[in-house]
Amino acid sequence: MEKDRHIVEPEEEKSLNFIEQIIEKEIAEGKNGGKVHTRFPPEPNGYLHIGHATSICLNFGLAAKYNGKCNLRFDDTNPSKEDVEFTDAIQEDIKWLGFQWDGEVHYASDYFQQLYDWAEQMIRDGKAYVDDQTAEEISAGRKTITEPGVNSPYRNRSVEENMELFHRMKAGEFKEGSHVLRAKIDMAAPNMLMRDPIMYRIIYCSHHRTGDKWCIYPMYDFTHGQSDYLEGITHSICTLEFEIHRPLYNWFLDELTSTEYRPRQIEFARRNLNYTVMSKRRLLELVQKKYVSGWDDPRMPTICGLRRRGYTPESIRMFAEKVGVARREIVVDMALLEYCVREHLNKTAPRVMAVLEPIKVVLDNYPEGKIEMVEIENNPEDPTAGIRQVAFSRELFIERDDFMENAPKKFFRLTPGQEVRLKGAYIIRCTDHIEKDEAGNVTVVHCIYDAESRSGSGHEAANRKVKGTLHWVAADDAIEAEVRLYDRLFKDEDPAGHKDVDFKEFINENSLRVLTGCKLESSLKDSRPGDRFQFQRLGYFCVDPDSKDDKLVINRTVSLKDTWQKMNK
Ligand code: ATP
Ligand code: MG
Repeated sequence: MEKDRHIVEPEEEKSLNFIEQIIEKEIAEGKNGGKVHTRFPPEPNGYLHIGHATSICLNFGLAAKYNGKCNLRFDDTNPSKEDVEFTDAIQEDIKWLGFQWDGEVHYASDYFQQLYDWAEQMIRDGKAYVDDQTAEEISAGRKTITEPGVNSPYRNRSVEENMELFHRMKAGEFKEGSHVLRAKIDMAAPNMLMRDPIMYRIIYCSHHRTGDKWCIYPMYDFTHGQSDYLEGITHSICTLEFEIHRPLYNWFLDELTSTEYRPRQIEFARRNLNYTVMSKRRLLELVQKKYVSGWDDPRMPTICGLRRRGYTPESIRMFAEKVGVARREIVVDMALLEYCVREHLNKTAPRVMAVLEPIKVVLDNYPEGKIEMVEIENNPEDPTAGIRQVAFSRELFIERDDFMENAPKKFFRLTPGQEVRLKGAYIIRCTDHIEKDEAGNVTVVHCIYDAESRSGSGHEAANRKVKGTLHWVAADDAIEAEVRLYDRLFKDEDPAGHKDVDFKEFINENSLRVLTGCKLESSLKDSRPGDRFQFQRLGYFCVDPDSKDDKLVINRTVSLKDTWQKMNK
C-alpha cells in the first residue's frame, strides 16, 4: 500500500473528517434516533501502543463530540493469549489518557452463552455444520481467489447429527483441532471469508473470566459483529483490514436477528510511526527477549512507555488530533509526537537547573562559606507559576561542554579571559587557573565574579550584556541523580518492513545512555515519580519510578529542539 509521510503543520485547518461527515449526515436523517454509540474493542493480549491511542481518541472523541457513549469491550475470544495483566493495564491506560467508558467494562466472553445459543439456532436452521477435517484440509478446500472452493465431505450432515456432534464438542469429548463448527454459506464466494467460515473451535485452556466452563470458543468473526449488535453500537469503527469481514458480520446478523438495526462499520487506515514497531507480537518479543526492560520501557511506543518517558495525556491527544483519520495508510514522523509533547510541556513544566555532566567552577573572589539566594522564574510561559529561590555559592557546577580551554572564536561560553552570565545570578570571568587530573582532564575552572552584576540588583552592571548565559548548580546545594537519555530504539525508519531481515537487526544499541553523578538544584529533592521539569537549556525531563529516597532517577522525555530533523538530514 502506498504510504504518505505526515508533515507537521501546526496551524492546519480542521474540517470534518470523513467519519464525522457520515455521522452528521445520519444524525440529520434521524438514524438510530440521532444517537451515537461507539466502542473501543482491544484484544487483551498485550499493552496498548500509540496506534491504539489514536483509535481511543477517535472513538471516545466522537462519543463526546456527539453527546453519545463509548463502550470498552475486551475481545477475549482466544484464552491462550490473554491475561488479566493486560485487561488491567489497558483500563489504566485509557483512564490516564483522560477517557471514561460508559457503564461497566464489557467482555466478548459475557456473550459466550448467547453466541452458543445462536450457533445452535444456525444448526437447527441448516446454516451450520460440524466439520471433521483438519485445519490443512479445510484451508486446502477453500482453494484460491481465482478458483471456487470445494465442499467439505461433512457439509451435508443432518441437523440431528450436527447438533449431537456440537454438543459433544462442548462436552469435551474430542481432541483439539479434530472438529470445528462452520457456517454453511458458499464455497464459491468471491470473498474467501464467506467460504464456510469457522464459527467455533476446541481449545482446552482456562479462560481468564469463564475459567473451565467452556472448551469450545467462538471465532472473532462469529463474535465481533454480534457483540456490537448486543451493545447497541451505532458506529463500529475499525481499521481497514476488517473491510472484507463486513459482509460476513452482516450475514451473521441477518441470519440471527430480526430487527432492522445494524451497527454501521466504518474502516480507517492504521496510523503508524516511523523508527519503531507497533504490532503487539513484536513488542512482546522485545519484552520477552529483554531488548527492553519491560512494556513500560521509556523507549517503547506503548502508552505506559510514553507515560514513563514523561509524555502527558494532553500531548498524546494533541498528536491523535493532528494525525487525524483517513482511508489512506500513513507513516507519521516521530518528530510530530515530540513536537506535541514539547508544546504541552513548554506551557506546563517548571524550569529548573540541572547539570548532567558536571565540571566544577570556583569563584576565587567570592567569600568562602557564604550562601545567598537568587530569585528565578519558574516558568516564563506561565504567569501564575511564580518564582523560586535558588542557592548560590563560591563553588558551582556547570556543564563540561560549556567550558573549553582553547576555544574557537565563536565560542560564547566559558573559556579563559571570557565573561558569561550565570543564569539569574552573576557575571563571571574565567581566569587562566585551570586544575587537571593526571589524565589531563579539567577538574576545576577558577573564575572571578563581578559583585555588582547580580540579575535584578539594580546596579548598572546587572544590565551589562554578555554573549553567553549558562545554567549552573551551587555545589553545596546540589542533589545527585542518575539521568537516562534515550534515543530511537531502531536505526531504520521501518524496521518491520524488510522482507529478508528480522526487525531486531535494526535495534539501536545506543538507544539508552545512563549518566550518573548529575547535579540538580535542591528544589527537586522532594519530587516524585511522574513529576516533569524543563532542565534549562537541556530539554524536558521527568522523575522515573525507579527513584529511591536517597537516589533520584530521571528520564529525558525530549530535548528542547527537534534533534530528529537534524538527524534525518
Ligand atoms: P496490533 O496489530 O498492534 O497487535 P491489533 O489490531 O491486534 O493491534 P486490537 O487490540 O485488536 O489490536 O486493537 C484494538 C483497536 O485498536 C482496534 O479497533 C484496532 O483497529 C485499533 N488499532 C490497532 N492498531 C492501530 C493503529 N496502528 N492505528 C489505529 N488504530 C489501531
Ligand atoms: Mg486485532
